[in-house]
Amino acid sequence: MNIREKHHRDPQRRPPWAHCSLCGGELYQGDECWRINGSTLCRSCLGDYAADAFAAHRRICGEEAPL
Ligand SMILES: [Zn+2]
Repeated sequence: MNIREKHHRDPQRRPPWAHCSLCGGELYQGDECWRINGSTLCRSCLGDYAADAFAAHRRICGEEAPL
């Protein structure tokens, strides 16, 4: 049995399609990603990016009256 040949056919061994602009994580064909202002983001970085993008809307609960 040729182990090297078997691994070469494994889709997980394919080179990444792209890398996340924030964490550098590998993105493979078929993975979901977000292209925003020239950056490519993975799902785990989307939350941090959105928090920065919407920083002007950030509030601390209890420091102002509830809506
Ligand atoms: Zn990322």
